[in-house]
Amino acid sequence: MHEMSVAQSLIHIIQSEMDKNAVTSLQTVKVKAGRINAIVPEALETAFHTLTQGTTMQGARLELETVPLELECGSCGTRFISATEDPLFLHSECPQCGWELGHRVVKGRELFIEYIEAD
Ligand SMILES: [Zn+2]
Repeated sequence: MHEMSVAQSLIHIIQSEMDKNAVTSLQTVKVKAGRINAIVPEALETAFHTLTQGTTMQGARLELETVPLELECGSCGTRFISATEDPLFLHSECPQCGWELGHRVVKGRELFIEYIEAD
């Protein structure tokens, strides 16, 4: 399961942030994930809660915000938000010229922790 390894790396980052700030009890973690990562929020939450059982992160709230996929048309350069369900995400019709392939991903790849709340 893809979300398991994502949760694992998030926990790793959170732990080092907590160490750096000398806090021991995690309350909330806010994660931003681009649509291209195809993370299922419920699966990530479950993975996070499973992996944090018995740790200082146990019971913390995980908030996930999905960043929309923004593409730049490979033909005319127009930027647009794509709602494509195509797993490759690049096959999406440009609203300006109708071009469908070879777009560049402007936004939607990111995966990072926006903030953590801990004390
Ligand atoms: Zn175009």
